[in-house]
Amino acid sequence: MAGVTECVFCRIIGRELPAKVVSSSPAAVAFLDVAPLAPGHLLVVPREHARHLHELPAAGLSGLAAELPKLAAALLQVTGADGYNLLQNNGAAAGQVVEHVHFHMIPRRPGDGLGFRWPAKQYRAGESEEILERFKLALAG
Ligand code: AMP
Repeated sequence: MAGVTECVFCRIIGRELPAKVVSSSPAAVAFLDVAPLAPGHLLVVPREHARHLHELPAAGLSGLAAELPKLAAALLQVTGADGYNLLQNNGAAAGQVVEHVHFHMIPRRPGDGLGFRWPAKQYRAGESEEILERFKLALAG
């Protein structure tokens, strides 16, 4: 696990490491992913260091979220893409490699070959009701 001082995204935010920064606000910085899934693939990161979304204070997240619409509009204009995915990985099991919250903004076009794997499941009888109750308990606490 990287500490704040070794965190590559903190170092980009602090201008210790080079990056192709497309926008910078008090809450968030957006820059080109160095290994893009498509040209124009952006990373949008909060200035505040947190490993996972649920560890980021709400103010940091809302400040970052406020940047997303104009970044997405710019991404569509710059790349000519027809759409985009907003992807946010939390934890190694979910594919997170850099342990600083980040949103991938990925330009998409029909037939771009990136695919979209979504192997939907079905609940067993009673399972969704049980999970719903557990959510209610967790959120009440
Ligand atoms: P994730 O798997 O969600 O943690 O994605 C981390 C992303 O950060 C990857 O897509 C990397 O290509 C990208 N990345 C890592 N280091 C840098 C860097 N120095 N500058 C720009 N992008 C980076």
